[in-house]
Amino acid sequence: MPAPTSLQALEADLARDLLLLNYPPKGWVPEAHAADGRPVSDVIVAGGGMLGLVVSFALRRQGVMRTRTLDQAEAGREGPWVTYARMNTLRSPNHLTGPVFGIANLTFRAWYEAQHGAAAWETLGKIPRAMWMDYLVWYRNVLDLPVENGVRLAAIRPAPHGLDVDLEHSDGRKETAATRKLVLATGREGQARPRIPAPFAPYLGSHVSHTATDIDFAALKGKDVAAIGLGASALDNAACALEAGARQVTVLARSPTVPRINKAKGIVYGGFTHGFPTLPPEWRLKLLDYVSSYRVAPPHDTVLRVFGHANAALWLESPVRSARLEDGRLRLETPEQSLLVDHVILGTGFAIDLSAPAELAEHAPLIRTHADLIGDRATPPQAEWLAFPALSPSFQFVEREAGSAPYLENIYCFTYAAAMTHGNVSGDIPAAGEGAERLAQGLAADLFRANIEQHFQAMVDFEDPELFGDELPEGTPWSPPVKSGG
Ligand SMILES: Cc1cc2nc3c(=O)[nH]c(=O)nc-3n(C[C@H](O)[C@H](O)[C@H](O)COP(=O)(O)OP(=O)(O)OC[C@H]3O[C@@H](n4cnc5c(N)ncnc54)[C@H](O)[C@@H]3O)c2cc1C
Repeated sequence: MPAPTSLQALEADLARDLLLLNYPPKGWVPEAHAADGRPVSDVIVAGGGMLGLVVSFALRRQGVMRTRTLDQAEAGREGPWVTYARMNTLRSPNHLTGPVFGIANLTFRAWYEAQHGAAAWETLGKIPRAMWMDYLVWYRNVLDLPVENGVRLAAIRPAPHGLDVDLEHSDGRKETAATRKLVLATGREGQARPRIPAPFAPYLGSHVSHTATDIDFAALKGKDVAAIGLGASALDNAACALEAGARQVTVLARSPTVPRINKAKGIVYGGFTHGFPTLPPEWRLKLLDYVSSYRVAPPHDTVLRVFGHANAALWLESPVRSARLEDGRLRLETPEQSLLVDHVILGTGFAIDLSAPAELAEHAPLIRTHADLIGDRATPPQAEWLAFPALSPSFQFVEREAGSAPYLENIYCFTYAAAMTHGNVSGDIPAAGEGAERLAQGLAADLFRANIEQHFQAMVDFEDPELFGDELPEGTPWSPPVKSGG
């Protein structure tokens, strides 16, 4: 079959794929109204970034149709891709199929080739960062996913129908929406706080920025900059400072060596994806702790992007012990050396903290975490692992004490915070589809169980005859009996 040579042709092929797959299926979740008459959504998905889109599609594939997907960002600016991500290309290889559920015409490659041809694909290399955002916008549009932009989830409360959620619209409107279930797809930093090493805390905002914030790189022209960390984000930000004309950029890392391998790349296979959540917590911890303590190699082109500049320096074994102001600049002291800079960029990542997002703060103390599961081991793991929630097989929060917060079963955590329970299926691109499928299937099952009486009654009421009573001789006993006249 010839490959489509335009987006229009690809979209026609994709529409046919979906038709052949009977998508969209019929919704089956009973309609409900709150006591005050408000319609109750089956699911509200908070976050319309990559994972919010993928899980919204996965829910529809399960026939869960009364959904709303909300994002506080403007349309086309969800997630990091065109906001604070500063790499030139994605870090993943371009052949990843990502969140497509086996639908070939929905892949990035199909989208790219339809516009640029197969020959261009062969020479593309890694996917340009902003192009990935363009693809996600197409994914959302072509699947007709119902994303409402400029809407922030502000608070969550238990309600007889499931949950009430307070929503703040960018035009100032406030709304309390009723839903049975809530999926939190609020991103890598959605249930986390930026790691700010103590020496830098007093200077945050003035002389120090975290990579996940707006940084005025033009203002760094002619300045001395320190980038803290050896991960991809630290180096991409160092590169941006150099490209903006910084005088000198010094990358400071605690470790004595530069990691060369990304162990996480080697764990994208069916056994790991599906087996991980079935392991006891000790094994899950061992696997993730190994990947992270081995440390992740920064991408090849990112390293070249920084150290191709003659005015870039790398200081290993250089934890910053103290920072102090000196003539309006920041003096950094490491065990061996001292450095005077105008600005520091922290590429120190995020630590999971369920109490960090406003909408979860009051619920966080009630949620079971890995501290409850494995915190009392003879050698307790690093505190950061203990902060990860211990979720159900369908990503629900679980109450710390039985009976103390049963409504938590209506909140599904679909962010990197799920990693200690589910593995890497709710963070990076490669297994996002598997994660979304797992969540959507589990959530559909949870909804079914919750309404089992109604579903049983629907079965009782189901009367779609296969036989009409005229197939066999008159007088044949039928069940149910054939009514006269049809
Ligand atoms: C700099 C960077 C580079 C990355 N590069 C790669 C890569 O190359 N390959 C790879 O596999 N992975 C990569 N990742 C990891 C991962 O793919 C991304 O983090 C991806 O964006 C995760 O998608 P998400 O939907 O979970 O989060 P996001 O894309 O961040 O989306 C979350 C959305 O939730 C919204 N939101 C948050 N709180 C609320 C609220 N209260 N109410 C309403 N909306 C809310 C936000 O506005 C945001 O749009 C990268 C991550 C970062 C940060």
